[in-house]
Amino acid sequence: MAQRLQCDILVVGAGPAGSWAAKRAAAEGLDVILIDSKPRIGERPHCGEFVPYQLFSEFGLDKNSIVNKISSLETWIVEDKAELKFKTHAIQSNGFLIDRPRFDRNLAREAAASGVLTMSSSTFLNFTDQSCIIKSVGAEIEVQAKYVIAADGAHSVIRKKLGVFTDDCIVGCQIEAPIANHVSNAMVFLDQDFLGGYGWLFPKGNTANVGVGMLPGHELTPAHALKEFSVMLTRIGLTKPGWLARTCGLIPGFGIRFPLFVENVLFCGDAAGLTHPITGAGIAQAIYSGDVAAEVAAKAVKSGKSSVLQQYHDLILYRYGRVFQHAISKKKLQLESWGNDNFTKLCDQTWISFKGYKKRERSS
Ligand SMILES: Cc1cc2nc3c(=O)[nH]c(=O)nc-3n(C[C@H](O)[C@H](O)[C@H](O)COP(=O)(O)OP(=O)(O)OC[C@H]3O[C@@H](n4cnc5c(N)ncnc54)[C@H](O)[C@@H]3O)c2cc1C
Repeated sequence: MAQRLQCDILVVGAGPAGSWAAKRAAAEGLDVILIDSKPRIGERPHCGEFVPYQLFSEFGLDKNSIVNKISSLETWIVEDKAELKFKTHAIQSNGFLIDRPRFDRNLAREAAASGVLTMSSSTFLNFTDQSCIIKSVGAEIEVQAKYVIAADGAHSVIRKKLGVFTDDCIVGCQIEAPIANHVSNAMVFLDQDFLGGYGWLFPKGNTANVGVGMLPGHELTPAHALKEFSVMLTRIGLTKPGWLARTCGLIPGFGIRFPLFVENVLFCGDAAGLTHPITGAGIAQAIYSGDVAAEVAAKAVKSGKSSVLQQYHDLILYRYGRVFQHAISKKKLQLESWGNDNFTKLCDQTWISFKGYKKRERSS
């Protein structure tokens, strides 16, 4: 017979959303279990590692994962790749490049220090009538939890098990490349070949995260697009040939995934589709949604009323509803007009750095 555990809250996934939610729920005095299928939490997330400046102060996060400060975001519209012709534009944009494995480990460590039972090599498998079945280091365990916080990422198994998964992801492929010349700005490359996405170069000292995020299922695969992109960066003189690390992952690309909760399960972070539909950034939203999910779940445990979970839906929509709806209208315009002649004009209308982005689309 399977071993049994009981808790107030089971958090599935120890990425930023899950670890933060677990820590917050424990701070509310709840009995919390946090599980992650990885043998070592934080190893090795797929990530450009660029976060907004306010993130650390808003949540009082440990700053020892900051690698360098970014103060400007350059946008390069690729007008002719063969001739290396670009239209460039820079705006002030304060942020940090972080060491993401260290960032995730810090959060998980803080959760454990707050009294959370943290279990690595432990995978959520399924629901039974009363409990969750997890597999921990080869053995099945039945966990009886009053509430479950599903922070299991873009590919959320929990959404699938509950029949509320939509396949809405773009693919992000990235290498860590050696830098040829000192670069201190974050750079974004808008290229017709990167369907519904973009390329990036985020510098961190002697290396940079170089990646491409785009819709899959077309002739040019994201991995191939990345290869061509990195060759182009070397031709411009920004990077040296070769790479030190390589990764590929999914990014929810079409906004908030509804429902945000089902019965006693709340979805947060990527599992809730909280990556920005145009930029793909999701770390800040993961932490905020983990925070709110924990707060609302704690209220539900303490009051014994599951009806309070509606507050989670309302708070997430209050913070992100309008911003995401606007971004989605821009994404729709992108996809309708991609491949038309005037790519520069489309970038002006749909990329966040340009004035045209602020203009409302008629359908939104
Ligand atoms: C290539 C790429 C680059 C990106 N760059 C940036 C960037 O520069 N800035 C930014 O803000 N965002 C970026 N993002 C998005 C960002 O990484 C995510 O939004 C963020 O990681 C979401 O956090 P999360 O906690 O919701 O999910 P995740 O970080 O994905 O964590 C989910 C966790 O759940 C675990 N898990 C999954 N299934 C199970 C299961 N069945 N049982 C137990 N555990 C499970 C996983 O092991 C994982 O640790 C990027 C994404 C990609 C793919």
